[in-house]
Amino acid sequence: MVKNMIQFATKYILICRKQLMDQSLEKTDFIRDTIKKDYREGKFKKLHTRFPPEPNGYLHIGHAKAICLNFELAAEFGGQCNLRFDDTNPSKEESAYVNSIKKDIHWLGFSWGNREYYASDYFQKLYDFALDLIHKSKAYVCDLDADQIRQYRGTLTQPGQDSPYRKRSVEENLQLFENMRQGKYPDGAKVLRAKIDMASPNLNMRDPVMYRIMHQSHHRTGKQWCIYPTYDWAHGQSDSIEKITHSICTLEFEDHRPLYDWFLDQLDIHHPRQIEFARLNLTHMVTSKRMLKTLVEQNYVHGWDDPRMPTLSGMRRRGYPPQAIRNFCQAIGVAKSESTIEIEYLEHFVRQELNRKASRVMGVLDPLKVVIENYPQGESEQLDAVNNPEDPSAGKRKVPFSRVLYIERGDFMEDPPKKFYRLAPGREVRLRYAYFIKCIGVEKDSRGNITSLRCTYDPATKGGDAPDRRKVKATLHWVSAPHAVNADIRIYDTLFSRQGPGQDEDFMDSLNPQSLTVNNRCQLEPSLAAAKPGQIFQFERVGYFYVDDDSSDQRLVLNRTATLKDQWARIKKRKNSTKS
Ligand code: ATP
Ligand code: MG
Repeated sequence: MVKNMIQFATKYILICRKQLMDQSLEKTDFIRDTIKKDYREGKFKKLHTRFPPEPNGYLHIGHAKAICLNFELAAEFGGQCNLRFDDTNPSKEESAYVNSIKKDIHWLGFSWGNREYYASDYFQKLYDFALDLIHKSKAYVCDLDADQIRQYRGTLTQPGQDSPYRKRSVEENLQLFENMRQGKYPDGAKVLRAKIDMASPNLNMRDPVMYRIMHQSHHRTGKQWCIYPTYDWAHGQSDSIEKITHSICTLEFEDHRPLYDWFLDQLDIHHPRQIEFARLNLTHMVTSKRMLKTLVEQNYVHGWDDPRMPTLSGMRRRGYPPQAIRNFCQAIGVAKSESTIEIEYLEHFVRQELNRKASRVMGVLDPLKVVIENYPQGESEQLDAVNNPEDPSAGKRKVPFSRVLYIERGDFMEDPPKKFYRLAPGREVRLRYAYFIKCIGVEKDSRGNITSLRCTYDPATKGGDAPDRRKVKATLHWVSAPHAVNADIRIYDTLFSRQGPGQDEDFMDSLNPQSLTVNNRCQLEPSLAAAKPGQIFQFERVGYFYVDDDSSDQRLVLNRTATLKDQWARIKKRKNSTKS
């Protein structure tokens, strides 16, 4: 009976997986095509991918592409995706990075279940694999130092030379390798190298280093080891141990694939297929942990999660919804050749997502006082305002209206040019959710700067419509002055002024000195007094704003996530016109 049930369940799972395979036929790209082909040829039963970050920095938008790809492929094909920390270099790695990486992947909405692995968990296994290669005379201990190894390696046009230590016997190699492990030599005195081919046209195959001596404590294994595997040696074998079926990595590892395959073939163990795709590059950004670390360490930004950073933690703090990042990654897809995507395209997905989700409020960034002269002194009323026209379930809220208001300074012109339809002397406009108002005078200071406007309102236009159907050409946002809340608003621009920072110059030379400005003059509707860190709002006609963790009961701090203007449409139009 139990046996039958198990058989039935297994059959059911296989049928479901086959259905998933068929369904995913809709989506095609070279990675999905390869996976489907491998499946049809019976090379694997259940897809198994992994995301393998090195815990030496925070994740950035480029990593998001790899995360989405690996986890979404697993979900699409009914498989699994592991999280594996590639922690083979103790000099640069820290557990703080491990925690931030886990937080960011969860934030994107992916889960690795209980499959959280570390390359350092396999140090003993990798050591045993290395012994196997030594036994097979496929690896040797070499005493050349790093410079000498480089000299012996040759160049793309010249073959390398064999190391004088290449012919060491298996016994001698076993002994020396054991001595290396026992800490008998200082850093750099010896390395273990694969014995492949010093004349190979692929430089990675010219006896690459597998182990180096580093007398350093590791964030997980402490002082247990003083020899550490190189990336090339650890990566494929870790994939194999985890029974990964498809090891997806970025293009720079294409030349390493013959080595990846060589190690697995020599060891004769489970052999995943490595597939490479092009890295994600974005305009006005750098996506290299080394560069990002420099920005943090030299205080050009306020930490890894500074909202100007291309890190996932920075984007979270900027107010980017995780779904927007996922939609963006899906839309750009995978390719075999490098390209750079416009930052405006990512922002397009951010706006799309926020437009659906963000509550609308009114906030005036550059306030100009308006006195409604026919509105009774000392009185006020509560008007109904819609929270989100895209989402009727979001309901309504009350906004107070009174005799003294603020409007945006840019919404008034004393002497308006032809196409300026907003407020001007003698002109009538609508105040959103409130009344029509008309400007009847302008107050100025001794230097001629406008200090306030004198206006009247039409009580018959309550809610924003005139009973006599007369029209106005503009609707302005506004805030009641005695009820307004003040805040610090951080306005961000791109961190780098150039489209491709670091391409023709030191990347630091194109840092944008105006990437952050703080506005503390703003006046916001009172409902914002209750705003909590993590909430996001659309200030009508102005943009999206995210309540920062730096907010306190005394002071609200908001980050501008994006303006409302979708620049992507303009770029797309330009691109299309240059194509045709
Ligand atoms: P960096 O160059 O920023 O140090 P890295 O490649 O060394 O990045 P890892 O932690 O090793 O960082 O990366 C983990 C995974 O993320 C790898 O599979 C890597 O190929 C992928 N990845 C890193 N950067 C990008 C990117 N810009 N686009 C797509 N995938 C990326
Ligand atoms: Mg790497």
